[in-house]
Amino acid sequence: MIARTTSEAELEPIRTAVLALCARFPGEYWRDLDRVRGYPHEFVAALTEAGYLAALIPEEFGGSGLTISAACAILEEIHHAGCNGAACHAQMYTMGTVLRHGSAEQKKQVLPAIARGELRLQAFGVTEPTSGTDTLSLRTTAVRDGNSGYIVNGQKIWTSRAEHSDLMLLLARTTPREQAKTRTDGLSVFLVDMRAVSGLTIRPIRTMMNHATTEMFFDNMRIPADSLIGEEGNGFRYILSGMNAERILIASECVGDAKWFIDKANSYAKERIIFGRAIGANQGVQFPIARCYMQMRSAELMVHEAAQRYEQGEQCGEQANMAKQLAAEASWAAADMCVQTHGGFGFAEEFDIERKFRETRLYTVAPISTNGVLSYIAEHVLNMPRSY
Ligand SMILES: Cc1cc2nc3c(=O)[nH]c(=O)nc-3n(C[C@H](O)[C@H](O)[C@H](O)COP(=O)(O)OP(=O)(O)OC[C@H]3O[C@@H](n4cnc5c(N)ncnc54)[C@H](O)[C@@H]3O)c2cc1C
Repeated sequence: MIARTTSEAELEPIRTAVLALCARFPGEYWRDLDRVRGYPHEFVAALTEAGYLAALIPEEFGGSGLTISAACAILEEIHHAGCNGAACHAQMYTMGTVLRHGSAEQKKQVLPAIARGELRLQAFGVTEPTSGTDTLSLRTTAVRDGNSGYIVNGQKIWTSRAEHSDLMLLLARTTPREQAKTRTDGLSVFLVDMRAVSGLTIRPIRTMMNHATTEMFFDNMRIPADSLIGEEGNGFRYILSGMNAERILIASECVGDAKWFIDKANSYAKERIIFGRAIGANQGVQFPIARCYMQMRSAELMVHEAAQRYEQGEQCGEQANMAKQLAAEASWAAADMCVQTHGGFGFAEEFDIERKFRETRLYTVAPISTNGVLSYIAEHVLNMPRSY
């Protein structure tokens, strides 16, 4: 646990360096990839080389050992610059499961290699087609095969970046639900080396934005016993413990997106002359931009509060969930406003707005949808009855 927070002054050089890196990847780079649903290999390589994807790996394992506020600043600036961190952001938070719950041997084997950019841990296999948000109903099983390992059967969906990852964190059932001691027991987390297994099929899913997501099929996939992270049956808790970090980091991306849309709309409103004056001279154009700015700023404050609590080792489920929801709503509102401000040009590919609009739409659905956050707040913060 890193018990310190990073001040804005300390973050400033990180922000500047990330923006300079992103300037090498302008709109046309992303537009070309978007058309063919291509993976941004060069961008991910540049982030890896600069050490940004190892920001949260402690120095003793070869990472930068930065705070989550610093990781947030990195992702926010990537999005503020018009780039997209979704191609690689998972590595920042999935490695936390290995760090917190992995054995000394697993950490030694994996974390330094990830920090050096030799191993990629980008895939996170939780969601399944028949269980969706109801993670505890997942059906993928990992059955002990003597002492040597496990045999995995089942299916995952929306496993993003699986084709661009060496390792995957996989959540599977090791004890049948009816035999588990409690509702949350019986699931286990495995660190699967996807290069070394057979019985694994990965199929890309084409989505409305360029996201490199896939579905995966496990057909008697054999994995060694030492793929297990922590204790068998405790996997759901391990996954939950990483979710606050995931939500805070993704919220930062949304804040970055919102800033990009607001900057873009603000500049255009000052330049575009219609009826003999800048459209931004009309309150009908100014006010939606001002409203989105306020919405973004309030979300940003919640992200900062969540990150600071996380860094201090305090409970932050409430703040992380609210930050993710408020930031996802702020980025989506700003996306809609930006299209409206640009009129017809908001739909033209070369303005990048329609691309960012499609990209930012994801975040009120994944990694947790709006209703999931609202249920969490109602039940765990407001002590209302459990609704599902
Ligand atoms: C592009 C993309 C990338 C993703 N990447 C990953 C990944 O890398 N790894 C991974 O494991 N998952 C990933 N996901 C999955 C994502 O986390 C899920 O899509 C999300 O959690 C919602 O689950 P679902 O799609 O099955 O929706 P469902 O669970 O089917 O829900 C559908 C709708 O019903 C609502 N709903 C369901 N039950 C209730 C209830 N009781 N009360 C009120 N409302 C309810 C939900 O909020 C939602 O709006 C990704 C998804 C997408 C689209």
